[in-house]
Amino acid sequence: MKTGIHPDYKTATVTCSCGNSFQTGSVKENISVELCSECHPFYTGRQKFASADGRVDRFNKKYGIKEEINE
Ligand SMILES: [Zn+2]
Repeated sequence: MKTGIHPDYKTATVTCSCGNSFQTGSVKENISVELCSECHPFYTGRQKFASADGRVDRFNKKYGIKEEINE
């Protein structure tokens, strides 16, 4: 078996430009990213969508509309 083919797999600290940091597995020890799950538009968009759901829920309660459960 030759050694040195597979780089060491370490726990890397990923630091985002938004200030968030998290741990991940990588061959690098420190990673800088501009977008992460905390500030990426895809995720922040989903958070906005979730809060919009909350408004709909309050609207339904205010007007006594029973929420339909779609499975
Ligand atoms: Zn971020």
